[in-house]
Amino acid sequence: MTSSPAAGLLTPVRGAALSLEGVTRTFGATTAIDAIDLTIPGGSLTAIVGPSGCGKSTLLRLLAGLEQPDGGRLLADGSDLTAAPLGTRDVAMVFQDYALFPHMSVAQNISFGLRLQRRHDRRNGPDTRYIATEVERMAELFGLGTLLSRRPHQLSGGQRQRVALARAVVRRPSLLLLDEPLSALDVALRASARAEILRLHRDLGATLVLVTHDQQEAMSMATELVVMERGRVVQAGHPTEVYRTPRTRFVAGFVGSPAMNLFPTADGGSLGWRPQDARIVDSGGVPEPPGLLIAGVVDVCEFTGSGQEVVCRAADGEVFTLVQHDGEPWLRPGDAIRGFVPGRALHRFRPDGTRIDD
Ligand code: ATP
Repeated sequence: MTSSPAAGLLTPVRGAALSLEGVTRTFGATTAIDAIDLTIPGGSLTAIVGPSGCGKSTLLRLLAGLEQPDGGRLLADGSDLTAAPLGTRDVAMVFQDYALFPHMSVAQNISFGLRLQRRHDRRNGPDTRYIATEVERMAELFGLGTLLSRRPHQLSGGQRQRVALARAVVRRPSLLLLDEPLSALDVALRASARAEILRLHRDLGATLVLVTHDQQEAMSMATELVVMERGRVVQAGHPTEVYRTPRTRFVAGFVGSPAMNLFPTADGGSLGWRPQDARIVDSGGVPEPPGLLIAGVVDVCEFTGSGQEVVCRAADGEVFTLVQHDGEPWLRPGDAIRGFVPGRALHRFRPDGTRIDD
């Protein structure tokens, strides 16, 4: 992706604030969404993460109106949307495979929603001049100016994604939903596409909700992170809050890369620490407690560019990971190491998985 949305081309909208109250969606015997209560702040960039099958896409489809809940209510800026017909909702969605119309040109794809509006309402709908101007505006915004007459199969993955975004944004929705928006892109494109979505969010002002498998991506982009497990929201908050204070053992293990080191405790609970929080200590200087002393033998080292990710094995067979930054000791397989994790970096969980606060 070479271009980026040009600032000033978008008239900002007011992002809708959403609330879900006891929203449930079942498919036969499967409860995909299990009595979810959730508030999505207006204008936020909310990322929904969780393991495969936890209900992320179903939740997004409920917000879009593509699925109807079996129970509960969905409110947008305080008004009940639960039964609102699809066409009346001020929402646009970009699908994982972009779902562009293959037989239409880029320009026709972008203008589709506006043309539909015009067909339904010739008197108050957009006129052809407005539609042409908007297509030009979107083409400039998303760097598609030279591609307007091409068909989707003549575009790269990144270009297709920009057409899908343009088709969604042209209607100035107050809620923009993105299902795995970056998964079809290669690593280099993902970085620029990420920046593009952040810029778009800033300039458009809409509430943006995205589903992603990539929790690192979610953490780096979101103003609000929603972690789901088996149809429920297990934690929602600013990414730093979720990362620093995971409310359950599941969230602790799911959010953060490499994953938190978690070990069973004698009472059936768990003790965890992040690979970034351990410091190698030499045999002479053992830091003062409170904290945890660790010891093991280096098994595998991975060079990450800015340092190393190191997998170690303790004497009792437990495996743990360390992150070593530039300037810290360079480790090799077979090295015996001792480390220290300060008390404030330890996370404790009860046998039922809930966090024990200090
Ligand atoms: P993934 O990350 O793999 O895309 P997800 O978190 O988006 O998964 P959903 O697609 O929302 O999960 O599915 C949640 C659960 O609901 C799964 O058990 C899935 O099999 C089930 N499910 C979703 N849609 C349907 C459907 N139309 N009919 C039957 N079951 C469904």
